[in-house]
Amino acid sequence: METEFSYQSLNSVQGRCLATQIPPEIFINICQDLPPTDLLSLARVCKKFYSYLCSTNSTTTQEIWKNSRLTFLPFVQMPPPEGMMELQYVKLVTERGCQFCKKPRIRKVYWAFLVRCCRKCLEDRTIRLDQIRHHLQSPNLIPDDFLSGLTFTTGFYKSGWDRSPKHRPANLYWIQNVNDTYAEYIKLDVNGRREWIKRKREEGKIKMEEVVKREIEHENEYWTKTMENSKKRDDRASMIDYLIRKEKNEYGFPRFKMSIVEQCSTYNKAMMSTSTSPFTERAWIGFRNKLIPEYTQLFSSLRMQRQETERHLSPDVAIQTRQMDIVKTIFELLRPEGEQRQFSNTVTNTTVNQQQQQQQQQNTSSDSDNNEPSENGNQIKNNNNFVFENFLIKYLPWCPTFRNPPFVNKDPRILWDDDFLMSVLIPQLREEALYLKNYPAPIDTVCGAFLHGGLNNKRVFGCKLCINNNNNNNTQDIPQLYSFFEVRLHLTKDEHKVRMINDDSMIEVYPSLSKSADNTSYSGQLFPRNKPEVFFAAGFNCNLICNLLN
Ligand SMILES: [Zn+2]
Ligand SMILES: [Zn+2]
Ligand SMILES: [Zn+2]
Repeated sequence: METEFSYQSLNSVQGRCLATQIPPEIFINICQDLPPTDLLSLARVCKKFYSYLCSTNSTTTQEIWKNSRLTFLPFVQMPPPEGMMELQYVKLVTERGCQFCKKPRIRKVYWAFLVRCCRKCLEDRTIRLDQIRHHLQSPNLIPDDFLSGLTFTTGFYKSGWDRSPKHRPANLYWIQNVNDTYAEYIKLDVNGRREWIKRKREEGKIKMEEVVKREIEHENEYWTKTMENSKKRDDRASMIDYLIRKEKNEYGFPRFKMSIVEQCSTYNKAMMSTSTSPFTERAWIGFRNKLIPEYTQLFSSLRMQRQETERHLSPDVAIQTRQMDIVKTIFELLRPEGEQRQFSNTVTNTTVNQQQQQQQQQNTSSDSDNNEPSENGNQIKNNNNFVFENFLIKYLPWCPTFRNPPFVNKDPRILWDDDFLMSVLIPQLREEALYLKNYPAPIDTVCGAFLHGGLNNKRVFGCKLCINNNNNNNTQDIPQLYSFFEVRLHLTKDEHKVRMINDDSMIEVYPSLSKSADNTSYSGQLFPRNKPEVFFAAGFNCNLICNLLN
């Protein structure tokens, strides 16, 4: 009973077939607006559609294909070659794969022979002009001008007898054409041959001009497609990057560290993919599921390696390394938003909408915060909590917790857990940075002079160690004055060789000197703004980065 029911329902579906219900005029109207690829699919739907679209003697069919081609194939505007139907013409240029061996993805059309084929199949079916001459000369001494009516292409290939390693360019003729025209020629008498060749020369000239025109039209399409595709691949790669960077963990920090992601084969394969289709939500889910286990494994093995190496650091270098961990984590947080790229419309609509919504959210949050309207560009928002704002970075090196961080077992050589860094340490640092911003330190402290007094490049800093020495020696010279950078250089070099600078016990500030009449002469050397890692490697106290971060 069930089978009977299914049979009947199937039958009734067939009874309502579109092709039998739609009058031909309306079907033709529908076809007017369809690109060739859709017409080809439609022809495969059923016999009725096939008969409409693949008829060889209907002018309407020819018109449908011609309109579609002229509308949707801007690089196939020339009429079809003589003797070729519109349908065959459209198939030749839009379908892919070698017409002989079915090798996929071949798109090269040889207009001289009206075939789309791979190199191997071309070589199998063509013959070089010098090979033809070689064959002709030995028995009959026939000149090669019987070829005048044929079209040819210029190719590079090595034949069996040619042992030269060079692939010399040569005119290639379609073997079948050569045989046919030779048979035609050989039947004629001497006078007939002369007339025949004269006619063939004219024909051949016109045909070759047409071939060249078609090749140019098609080459243009090829290069445009190639450029479009490389643009699409770029967009796809940017989209993958964007989605990876966008993903946040529970603390509002990036879920993935790009330096580790870049070592994952899942990521590298996706980046090198030749696919030009947009990266969809579904593709992202699959990609993410593969990336996470690889990332997690790599993350923990890199961390173990690092811990092993850093076990042997001296304490002062270890402290600086931990401070750099804080800086890097905060930078990682700020970086992705700063690198947002423009996407072309190949990006899926849903993702674009999400992006726009996010931007709208950011805009509204900026509007509601009137305190720092100009500095809000890079702030990171997570459940209404800011994780660390760009404008707070300059306060970071002066935060008590940054200068004297809580180490695991009081040992700076032990790495912090990422969870601790993100959920405890950085929120604490943010509180301290906000405090420094809202409650400026007095100008006669190093921090106050540097951060709030605008004196960082003024020579208002003195070395307390030298001053104490001089007092002991009872000399009453005016103390040597430095810029902030210079005084720290002084402390790490020369007679002091300090490894860890403690600003307030080692540096004296003379804020009043900056107001003296001869102001400009007190301008000292600023921090070099490039190569912070050079300072770091030289064993400088990490507090030095305070200016580099500005
Ligand atoms: Zn049908
Ligand atoms: Zn082939
Ligand atoms: Zn000194």
